[in-house]
Amino acid sequence: MQARTVWRRLLGVEKTVVEDVEFVEELDATVSLVAHVRPTSRAASRCGKCGRRAGRYDGGEGRRRWRGLDFGEVLVFLEADAPRVRCRDHGVVVAGVPWARHGAGHTHAFDQQVAWLATQSSKTAITVLMRIAWRTVGAIVARYWADTAAALDQFAGLRKIGVDEISYKRGHKYLTVVVDHDTGRLVWAAPGRDKATLNSFFDALAASSPFTGETAGEDRCGLITHVSADGAEWIAKVVAERCPNAVRCADPFHVVKWATDALDVVRREAWNTARGAVTQRRAGRATGVAKDLKGARWALWKNPEDLTAGQATQLEWIVKTNPRLYRAYLLKEGLRTVFKLPLKQASVALEKWLSWARRCRIPAFVKLAKTITKHRPSILAAIEHGLSNGRIESVNTKIRLITRVAFGFKSPDALIALAMLNLGGHRPVLPGRR
Ligand SMILES: [Zn+2]
Repeated sequence: MQARTVWRRLLGVEKTVVEDVEFVEELDATVSLVAHVRPTSRAASRCGKCGRRAGRYDGGEGRRRWRGLDFGEVLVFLEADAPRVRCRDHGVVVAGVPWARHGAGHTHAFDQQVAWLATQSSKTAITVLMRIAWRTVGAIVARYWADTAAALDQFAGLRKIGVDEISYKRGHKYLTVVVDHDTGRLVWAAPGRDKATLNSFFDALAASSPFTGETAGEDRCGLITHVSADGAEWIAKVVAERCPNAVRCADPFHVVKWATDALDVVRREAWNTARGAVTQRRAGRATGVAKDLKGARWALWKNPEDLTAGQATQLEWIVKTNPRLYRAYLLKEGLRTVFKLPLKQASVALEKWLSWARRCRIPAFVKLAKTITKHRPSILAAIEHGLSNGRIESVNTKIRLITRVAFGFKSPDALIALAMLNLGGHRPVLPGRR
């Protein structure tokens, strides 16, 4: 076998001629392998953006390097000329190369391995193993997803969607996300939480409507049958305009969260009262009550079936010492139960719950009763059409985890790319694998 072929296979490149290889000792005494390469004549002189043939413009900024996958301990670089060409559509641009994305400093194989690792391992594992900064991981993931998305039809078969808003960057910035209820996949996400953002989803959905094939001519916005959301006005308005025939459902996940929030208001009131007792009287028992109430937060929030023995004890303690807080807890649990019942029973149970909440004399729950009354039709629609709370909740939890992991990425695009690679149903594979 020719040495050139061996090197090409080892470097994992195609349409590339390996001219020479050499070891280079870097300033920090590490040794790198530098492979001098050029595109084959068929792959040369192409626009870096569209890949079409283009005439040479000039030599650009001379030779440059791309990082490839390591050979064991040895860092690998590809080095080549980077001439500029003049494209009919894109003007003067750096010529494309077959071994890397336009503008990237790493090879395709390197990008792909990082994308795979980003869905499989910790931040430390990726940055140490690949010897790159976390920001670079973000940039790689973003360009890898852009290429993957361009080759996919993310919206095919989309019927039931869930729309949600998720905060990132310490709560000041938001993403609007769209989830497929049937598959549990994340299908779309963009920065912002307003009508314009959601409209851009429906624009993309409409634009993806097929011109050819079995489903030619279908307007995909019109095919959406169910939309669930958290009750926000801006979502409801856009949905009413863009898919007027879709059944609008309340997201059970959010409805239960409203109840959990109301319960937390009551718990904080109880805690403040207990703490106030400390300053008014002397310390002693009251301190213990305030502390216990703070610690009981988890016992109150968690579903009763998930309580640890310790949390169950805390709950019993609340039953004895704080009947008002316990009533609030029962109201929260009651509402959660509604979503587990079949439609007929659920609608009766919801009425009972509402009359109980209206008369409970706990302001947070009286207020919640008003909100629930306003959203009653969409809550019952969610139950009738069996929109799975568990699935949406699990996607929600995962996206929130990813926003934390993605902290430190430069742009929301990288965060979105990471979320799409993880939850969009098209996880990357390692280079050279199927
Ligand atoms: Zn071009």
